[in-house]
Amino acid sequence: MEQGVDITLKGIHAPDSTWMRNFGKIAEIFQSWWGGRIPQVTATGRTPWRQRWRLLRPAAGRAVFFSGGVDSFHALLILIQQGTPPHALIFVEGFDFDHRDTGRIEAYLPAVRKICAHHRMKLLRVRTNLRRLPFFRESLWPHTHGLAMAGVAHSLRDYGHIYIASSFQERGLQSYGSRWDVDPCFSSATHRFYHVGDEVGRHQKLDLLASDPLVREHLRVCWQDGSGQLNCGVCEKCLRTELSLQLLGVRDQFPGFARKESLEDRLGRLNPDIEAALEMWLVIRGQHLPPAMETALRSLFLRAYEHGEALPADYRGSASILAAMAEFCGYREAIIFQEPPSASMHSRTKAGPE
Ligand SMILES: [Zn+2]
Repeated sequence: MEQGVDITLKGIHAPDSTWMRNFGKIAEIFQSWWGGRIPQVTATGRTPWRQRWRLLRPAAGRAVFFSGGVDSFHALLILIQQGTPPHALIFVEGFDFDHRDTGRIEAYLPAVRKICAHHRMKLLRVRTNLRRLPFFRESLWPHTHGLAMAGVAHSLRDYGHIYIASSFQERGLQSYGSRWDVDPCFSSATHRFYHVGDEVGRHQKLDLLASDPLVREHLRVCWQDGSGQLNCGVCEKCLRTELSLQLLGVRDQFPGFARKESLEDRLGRLNPDIEAALEMWLVIRGQHLPPAMETALRSLFLRAYEHGEALPADYRGSASILAAMAEFCGYREAIIFQEPPSASMHSRTKAGPE
């Protein structure tokens, strides 16, 4: 859609009607968020597939995408608690790291194997150069990663029920390539997709996970560090996770987040954009903070305001969240969002500290 390209299905006479119906839904959703033209789908083959699609059913196997982060650990444990434990973990080499980055991939594989063995699941290793292909290189990964997961899952013949962990809590509030209303639309005659875990936010997920020994030992949230550490302890995502763990009183029990330097000092060096700051605000919202932590975060949020970028108007859907964050910082007004759907307004006003 972004590139205005139509789709030709070679070798197929009549596409799977479930896939076609869902493709139309996704295209409409994505177009409403990001514009572009809905592609035409043409089938050019001679094989009479129309009858055969009707006979196909999803295979009984259940599989969940797993990266080692908060969302995928939470999805795994929720599925087990709900009595639908996955039969397999899908571990993709080539999504979060380049597929040739064997050092980082191999460093985490023993943990994935251990998690699979503990929960009696098969490990499905998928190695792909998909992100190096022109289509994915020229598109934004937050727009396309759901489609990439759907493509991988459709190559798994024995697993017809595919689970994708939620990235956000608030339903319908943020455009994203994998979401509560998008993921089920990846379904076809042979694969059904389920979105898991958007009832709770990331901080609450960590609260639910914090007592699990495998999570404590193997939680990996960082894509920045190439030194072989589980988490770099410096990037925004590491610090946000560590902040959650500290507020939950369990940080010492997560060796992957052990650092000599204080969290406040490391927060003091972070220069996040407003989006990252807002994610951090959602962690501390309503929490009682020690004075040093409160000072460090207030300073961090002020630096984020100075960053100069406005958020899309649909981001988390609520000006009230940013208003509360601004009040915490001593601002009288919050940021003005960009107007949807493609307005060029990037301005913002702020009254400055009172
Ligand atoms: Zn990191």
